[in-house]
Amino acid sequence: MIQSKTREIQVGTIIIGGVQPVVLQSMTATKTTNIVATAETCRRLTDAGAGIVRVAVDTQQDAAALREIRKRTTANLSVDLQENYRLAEFVAPYVDKIRYNPGHLHHAEPEISWQKKVEWIVEIARKHDCALRIGVNCGSLDLSNTGNDSQFNGTLGKALESALQHADFIDSLGFQRFCVSIKSSDPATVISANRRFASLRYDIPLHLGLTEAGMPPEGVMKSRLALEPLLAEGIGNTLRVSLTVSNERKQEEIEAGKLILRNAQQGKILTTADWTPDRLNIISCPSCARVENDRFVALAQQVREATRFMKDIPLTVAVMGCRVNGPGETDHADIGLWCGAKSVNLKRGTCLLGTFSYDEIVQKLLRELEQFQ
Ligand code: SF4
Repeated sequence: MIQSKTREIQVGTIIIGGVQPVVLQSMTATKTTNIVATAETCRRLTDAGAGIVRVAVDTQQDAAALREIRKRTTANLSVDLQENYRLAEFVAPYVDKIRYNPGHLHHAEPEISWQKKVEWIVEIARKHDCALRIGVNCGSLDLSNTGNDSQFNGTLGKALESALQHADFIDSLGFQRFCVSIKSSDPATVISANRRFASLRYDIPLHLGLTEAGMPPEGVMKSRLALEPLLAEGIGNTLRVSLTVSNERKQEEIEAGKLILRNAQQGKILTTADWTPDRLNIISCPSCARVENDRFVALAQQVREATRFMKDIPLTVAVMGCRVNGPGETDHADIGLWCGAKSVNLKRGTCLLGTFSYDEIVQKLLRELEQFQ
């Protein structure tokens, strides 16, 4: 499969972009402070074919654990900075790539401009020989973007504007070792955003992914709908299939990635003509170290089983694993659940309906869904 010829960027022992094969990625879902289990997941994912493994880091304890994990794995490691961009300084010595989300840069130290923050992150990356990813997510956009793309407005326009703005800015700093991702839970949005970005900045490697794809097999099918057409067009240099599965099953993300690459190469592109999704759309995050209660994956499965009878009703139900992305990303669903340590928050759109225990939440959800039947 011939990908469009972007810049090449070094990430640890591999290269993303140029004429290199598409790199598969996955992410650990163990607590990062559980050094043994996280290093073991890194090994399992690398053995399965992951070129890069992402680990979640939110605290100084996580950063300290990462130092030990680094000693125990040969995986090319990546971390994502959520609200706490200052952690870059503490994790950079132990990883090969750092992802930041432009939409999250405004949360900490709002008096400092995003440009100053990016400048600082770039300096850290230079100093520690790391690559960067500008990771734009349609569920957590930079609210200062207006979405003035000539072809797209609304969420898609804002996501494009954010990605282009940050790419131009990092270029202006004389740093080229970065890739870009524009993700959404909607396959059509992922296709349009990445096609448009690739047409404007064909030189920058793209990391592809559909966020909150959900549980297999639907999560794999939705990811195929989003990623196979792009890859067949030569767009995309690295990808992750985000599936809601337990940590023990994380290598299924790599297997799904291989399937997608094979299909794109053979021209077996999944289209909506080949697969009609249920009209009830359940989106759920893949889980990661930030999950505060291990019951999250089981809860997502329970929600799917309990709502099967509504499969023909056009409705989006979001199930999210934590408070980092849960509150924002459930705003766009008709009904949203996001998990805390001891309870689950139930929302209708942006409105919080209540907080319920893990034992009672499914019944509360079903009662809420009655109005849609
Ligand atoms: S919502 Fe939270 S638990 Fe789920 S993948 Fe995102 S950060 Fe991890």
